[in-house]
Amino acid sequence: MATETVFGKIVSGEIPVEILAETERVIAFPDMNPQAAVHVLVIPKSTEYQNVVELAAGDPETLAEMIAVAQRLADELAEGEFRLIFNTGEGAGQTVFHVHAHVLAGAFKEHSLV
Ligand code: 5GP
Repeated sequence: MATETVFGKIVSGEIPVEILAETERVIAFPDMNPQAAVHVLVIPKSTEYQNVVELAAGDPETLAEMIAVAQRLADELAEGEFRLIFNTGEGAGQTVFHVHAHVLAGAFKEHSLV
């Protein structure tokens, strides 16, 4: 079983967040430290996958659902165009080891890659 992360606690409801989108397999909520006018995190409800490479290999349908949710959020909250970032590994800036997509849209903080 994967080590519990802060996102596992968000999925279980232990840490409350504002849910911006929810599907059978995915939830989305605002990043607590936004780097753009729109900065939403899209995560699978499953706690099984630490990063996007593992998710793509093990459950590509959920990855596709995360990307579809990202587009829907960008349509609703911005002009429909967005950056999608998956930090993968500590050296790349990943701090939470429950796969998550950063969806960024609107005005960006200069130089920020999240
Ligand atoms: P990473 O650096 O792992 O790609 O991104 C983790 C992101 O999760 C960071 O941008 C951080 O601000 C966000 N984050 C960490 N803990 C929480 C939390 O408890 N609530 C919310 N809404 N965002 C969080």
